[in-house]
Amino acid sequence: MNDTKRWNVIKSKNNEAMIKEAAQLLMDGNTVAFPTETVYGLGADATNEKAVEKIFQAKGRPQDNPLIAHVATKEQLINLVEDIPDYVYRLIDHFSPGPITYVLKSNGTCAENVTAGLQTVGVRIPSHPVALSLLKNCNIPIAAPSANTSGKPSPTTADHVWEDLAGKIAGVVDGGATGVGVESTVIDCTQDIPIILRPGGISKEELEEVVEMVSFDPALSGEDERITPKAPGMKYTHYAPEVPMWLVAGGSEKIQDVYNELVTGGKRVGVLANRNTLEKMNVEYAISLGETPEDVAANLYDGLRKFRKAEVDIILCDTYPEHGIGQAIMNRLRKAASRYIEE
Ligand code: AMP
Ligand code: MG
Repeated sequence: MNDTKRWNVIKSKNNEAMIKEAAQLLMDGNTVAFPTETVYGLGADATNEKAVEKIFQAKGRPQDNPLIAHVATKEQLINLVEDIPDYVYRLIDHFSPGPITYVLKSNGTCAENVTAGLQTVGVRIPSHPVALSLLKNCNIPIAAPSANTSGKPSPTTADHVWEDLAGKIAGVVDGGATGVGVESTVIDCTQDIPIILRPGGISKEELEEVVEMVSFDPALSGEDERITPKAPGMKYTHYAPEVPMWLVAGGSEKIQDVYNELVTGGKRVGVLANRNTLEKMNVEYAISLGETPEDVAANLYDGLRKFRKAEVDIILCDTYPEHGIGQAIMNRLRKAASRYIEE
């Protein structure tokens, strides 16, 4: 496939026709990338094994890593699964459409490669208007992992998608930068209480306002490597920038010390941190992630992608408190880092 189509739905007055064309490509078994409120997804008909295989090919994604099925409505979601605990209805009513994925027993509607042969399927209703409009036009579940080359930072703009997948997919719907910036929270809903398999756009604290008990998959702490994560994707290297990234705890002074030492040793060093930290530092090349934790989540993957081998040898990155969206930020940063200098 050489020609990847690109539709700009922000600048155009002809949005409806563009979405219809993209939806038709999906219904015909092709792959199309589109914006969601978390990151850009690479979609294909979730009921069509051959179409889904194209996602794995384009991304170079390991075959044992299941995909999330995206639907437009609660009814469509319910139609893909069985044995839904009561707490799931409460979560859906509060958080969907939104950045939350429910892992439930599959009823077999989704193709086997969507679930990577598991008995369960991850399903989500995105809230981005372009994603919803596309899903409503197709009226089929759309399997959609992040629209990046496997292992690289997830895409938060259509340019990121283009950089990784142009020539490998049928099209990209450009809806501008995504909002949340980190992926959905994946929750195992096959047990008596919900278990967070991947922290994301909805925090544990927010979930606990709706359901009394929520736990974390023990594999998430990363302390015991013998525990296999229940979300197969969590075991892979992820979000890796072009240049090695070191995560440095201890704030601006500590990062400055590590920076000075590296620069003295002849290294070209880039710093990725929020504005507050950068204001207290003296460095030559820095990218600001903004001010609030929400800014950091929204700008993180773009920041990681911006550092190039031609300019820097090492990226030093700040750490963040692990509550709220900070849980997802630190989960991604630990995976992206080649080294973690703890306090
Ligand atoms: P991505 O769509 O690239 O953000 O990745 C989807 C994440 O959801 C990966 O970590 C998957 O392993 C996880 N996931 C999807 N379906 C399931 C499932 N049925 N059981 C457990 N984890 C899942
Ligand atoms: Mg991904």
